[in-house]
Amino acid sequence: MKQKLTQLKEEFANEAAQIKGPEKLEALENKYLSRKSGLLTNIMKGIKEVAKEEVAEIGALANETKNYITSGLEELRASLGGGAASFDFTVPGKKPPVGHLHLATIAIREIESILEPLGFVRARHPDVEWDYYAFETLNMPGDHPARDDWETFFIDEAPIKMNLPEDSLKLVKEGRRLLTPHTSSIQVREMEKGVLPIRMMNISKCYRRQIDVSHVPMFHQFEGLVIDKDINITHLKGTIDYFVKKFFGEDRTIRLRPHHFQFTEPSFEVDISCGLCHGTGKLEDGSACRMCKEGWLELAGAGMVHPNVLKAGGIDPNVYSGFAFGWGVERCFSMKSGLNIDDLRLMYKNDLRFNEQF
Ligand SMILES: [Zn+2]
Repeated sequence: MKQKLTQLKEEFANEAAQIKGPEKLEALENKYLSRKSGLLTNIMKGIKEVAKEEVAEIGALANETKNYITSGLEELRASLGGGAASFDFTVPGKKPPVGHLHLATIAIREIESILEPLGFVRARHPDVEWDYYAFETLNMPGDHPARDDWETFFIDEAPIKMNLPEDSLKLVKEGRRLLTPHTSSIQVREMEKGVLPIRMMNISKCYRRQIDVSHVPMFHQFEGLVIDKDINITHLKGTIDYFVKKFFGEDRTIRLRPHHFQFTEPSFEVDISCGLCHGTGKLEDGSACRMCKEGWLELAGAGMVHPNVLKAGGIDPNVYSGFAFGWGVERCFSMKSGLNIDDLRLMYKNDLRFNEQF
């Protein structure tokens, strides 16, 4: 059999050399490789008589012969040029993989496009921030216990000279640095620019030492800050209500629950009506909604800017007032109706099986 296979290769090579036009190729292929009656198939029928210990060797040689003939046919096809005859229109085309923006980017762009028409201008602050802006100016001095809520990553170094503006109210010019744990770090930075009124949004990365189904150590928040004369809670409520209707749908409503944050007074937690049970807490069949607590979902924090924060930014709280809100981008996005992302960590695992679903 070995000999027959070697011979077959030679025969094929000779015959292939005589082929002058592409119309003969199919017959040549059938003659050698047809599964029913091709020469190779005929030789391989004899495998039953081959001694057991030789079967593997013969098998390998048969494969090699087949590859030799196949690639010979391909070469011939390429060199003779099959024209339209060799182009098979029924073979499915090759689709290059097409990507799309990451969910976080999609959400950020959507949030930006909703707030921009209201006059919010996007601003940014450094990811590696001074303790001064992240906590101190936000009414959380030194060892204030409220700082514990932020699970902050501090930079491991002794206090160093801060690059604050010349006319900064800060007397001690040394400080510690950290990875900014929230977007509110930008508030006093914006006030220090000395341009009023302020209407800014900050959509940035935040860092906290936490990881579970609803937390990731690097996530995004978006923050709105408005400071002007005669700003009151109705402006805050109207802005958030407008945002929620645009982002989640016209049928969603909000409610404000009294809460406590150091840097706003009064402070609120913002809830939105549940999209699954439409704020009733019960599904159509009467069973309790698994998505929400009695019809409401916790969404965000908000409040009127604390007078101490305005003072830290060099603004007279007797003349100006303002409101601020700060929410998690990923959390907000995962709460959109029908998305049902039950583990936020999936968003940053780079698993295409997850990403391709959106
Ligand atoms: Zn519900």
